[in-house]
Amino acid sequence: MNDTAERNVGTFDYVIVGAGPAGCVLANRLSADPSISVLLLEAGGADWNPLFKMPAGFAKMTKGVASWGWSTVPQKHLNGRVIWYTQAKVIGGGSSINAQIYARGAAKDYDAWASEAGAAGWSYREVLPYFKRSEDNQKLHNAYHSYGGPLGVSYPINPPPISYAFLRAAQEFGIPFNDDFNGAAQDGIGHYQLSTRNAERSSASSAFLKPVEGRKNLTLRLNAQTLKIEVQNGRAIGVTVVSGAGTETLNADREIIVSCGAIGSPRLLQLSGIGPADALKAAGVDVVHDLARVGANLQDHLDLYAISECTGEHTYDRIARPHRTAWAGLQYFAFKTGPVTSTLFETGGFWYADREARSPDIQFHLGLGSGIEAGVAAMKNPGVTLNSAFLRPRSRGTVRIASADPRAAPLIDPNYWADPYDRECAIKGLRMAREILRQPALKPFVMAERMPGDDVRTDEQLAEYAYRTCKTDHHPAGTCAMGSGENAVVTPDLRLRGLLGIRVVDASVMPFVPSGNTNAPAIMVAEKASDMILGKPPLPAAVL
Ligand SMILES: Cc1cc2nc3c(=O)[nH]c(=O)nc-3n(C[C@H](O)[C@H](O)[C@H](O)COP(=O)(O)OP(=O)(O)OC[C@H]3O[C@@H](n4cnc5c(N)ncnc54)[C@H](O)[C@@H]3O)c2cc1C
Repeated sequence: MNDTAERNVGTFDYVIVGAGPAGCVLANRLSADPSISVLLLEAGGADWNPLFKMPAGFAKMTKGVASWGWSTVPQKHLNGRVIWYTQAKVIGGGSSINAQIYARGAAKDYDAWASEAGAAGWSYREVLPYFKRSEDNQKLHNAYHSYGGPLGVSYPINPPPISYAFLRAAQEFGIPFNDDFNGAAQDGIGHYQLSTRNAERSSASSAFLKPVEGRKNLTLRLNAQTLKIEVQNGRAIGVTVVSGAGTETLNADREIIVSCGAIGSPRLLQLSGIGPADALKAAGVDVVHDLARVGANLQDHLDLYAISECTGEHTYDRIARPHRTAWAGLQYFAFKTGPVTSTLFETGGFWYADREARSPDIQFHLGLGSGIEAGVAAMKNPGVTLNSAFLRPRSRGTVRIASADPRAAPLIDPNYWADPYDRECAIKGLRMAREILRQPALKPFVMAERMPGDDVRTDEQLAEYAYRTCKTDHHPAGTCAMGSGENAVVTPDLRLRGLLGIRVVDASVMPFVPSGNTNAPAIMVAEKASDMILGKPPLPAAVL
């Protein structure tokens, strides 16, 4: 793979903007045909730092490493709170900095994409073969899982005893055990599958790009931010890019593919004059193509959490001291064992706030420590965290550019809890998390709840606590939604409505955020898109 400027070869068949999970998959699949030339552009840099490979490196990743450094606008329904909003800026995008949980969401999510949003071809049976095409599952091979694909999918290597006690506690609470959240049913508690392989992160760049870096028809440009998509006579023809080499225009003979993520894609489109005319004019951008819903329909999962103090050194908080960190690092590099092999969030599950819900609407993530993520309090003594996120928010937010300056941060407004139903379900989820941590099976491990604390009891008190402490679960989606009709930004084959030569392929095209983590779904979207772009027939729908 060529990672230097091909300054004399300014034209490619396909220009992919953004080397996140979707961009990496596309680069791999499109360049498999040696007659097709592909340029992959990424604003961030390389992932050579070992932290990106170490599963526990995640602990550093929400604190500013390889991130754009953005925050939300003040959240009207969270008492004006501004929330730190990590979005990756590195090769591999979110898959290089995420917690590596491999979760696909519920089958009914995809059926809703097809039946409610009009995304024909994206029902569960139609997308399942694409999840499987990517997958190299360490242990499962059946109707839902496969092996031999580029993406490593493994179970946790050595969960500590408190993880198993948590599983028993959740069952005492009434949630059944489930060994495969990506199989026949999502309901239950268990260990997550992880996008790891041989105790290393299986990011989209290591899984999809590294193996094909020798391809002569694939050019990768790092530290190259696309400023604008160039449109001529109703067709996207190229991109203007700034990098260490200056500013240049690179052209696509066939298509520009925008894969900048659920915040980055509507941002780039709007900077290019593609979006809601009023918002563009207000930002001082000339309108090239008035498309009202670019940046609308933002959905995200909001995390609430309980933190308890442990009776002893049961979680990885014990590693926080420098000499122990050094030992854990040595153990990892010498033997690929020990705490560094943990993604720190490797156990959890799915259950119901609303018993009428079509599939679980709450997700739990057990954090093997406290203060793992930015903004979350670290306990003085070892602690354990249990996150709960409401999975199918009814609130809708927006991504808007603040000005025509491509260096300016976008205005990210997830509009959390605008719909009171979201708040009601989220608080029920937090109550469940607290109850699970109080079950007998955890008594030998958990001393007492420290956050929110025993004196926080009423819904109103819990909401006040949430205003102060809640955080994003890092799952933005929906801002260039696919579907049929006026609300869609892209058609079901992911072409931007009203312009030629441009598609959007990433988490932004998901009409509804899946009920789970979003990395595997973003990879699936790009797998399916690659067949569409290459004009291949879709894989046969799964027979279940
Ligand atoms: C901290 C964190 C933890 C997470 N944990 C999990 C998890 O455990 N499991 C899970 O399934 N999901 C998780 N996610 C979510 C998951 O990683 C994302 O859903 C996924 O990465 C989305 O992929 P994408 O291709 O849509 O976009 P992104 O991952 O956002 O990638 C977009 C890429 O485009 C680049 N880009 C943007 N604008 C430009 C531009 N103008 N020019 C050039 N390049 C540009 C960005 O730098 C980025 O590399 C997490 C995300 C974060 C941030």
